[in-house]
Amino acid sequence: MKLVILDRDGTINRSRGDYVTNADEWEPLPGALEAIAQLNHAGFHVVVVSNQSGLGRGLFDVDALNAMHAKLHKQLAAAGGRVDAIFYCPHAPEEACTCRMPQPGLLLQIAERYGIELQGVPMAGDRVRDLQAAVAAGCEPHLVLSGAHQDSLGSDGQPLPPELPEGTRVHPDLGTFAAFVVERDAVEPLRVAI
Ligand SMILES: [Zn+2]
Repeated sequence: MKLVILDRDGTINRSRGDYVTNADEWEPLPGALEAIAQLNHAGFHVVVVSNQSGLGRGLFDVDALNAMHAKLHKQLAAAGGRVDAIFYCPHAPEEACTCRMPQPGLLLQIAERYGIELQGVPMAGDRVRDLQAAVAAGCEPHLVLSGAHQDSLGSDGQPLPPELPEGTRVHPDLGTFAAFVVERDAVEPLRVAI
């Protein structure tokens, strides 16, 4: 199977300064749903990973999270796309779990669920910690500048964070990431070993 893994907040939907706590606050970034549809049309399965420590902190509950994801699935379907699954970490940082990114636990759950190796699977996120998790799990790291580092897009550009894993590719947003992955795949198809 061809697989792409995407972070949620700041990658697919607008990140807010604090937390997205309900479906009303869940707003897709311009072009993000279409980008997922483009990946699907090129034969890619898309899986979402997300740190949702707002659950562990008691800022919202699982019903609210499910409502956000129902909105995601519905709007994405209207754009002609789909995500296969959404894996999230519900823990607060002090719980010291193994699934909160930069830990790779969520990604390893995907590998286990699908029975695949993640070596070379493209993963896009807006934060260094997303990509640290990506690399720890063997994925190919891609930074999108549509969330935490959106200020890095200026003409002179703020410097990118030095902790970015080596070899991280940088894209303005999910649309340019998807175009890159799809174009490369047309030349040099990526197949994940099953
Ligand atoms: Zn966790």
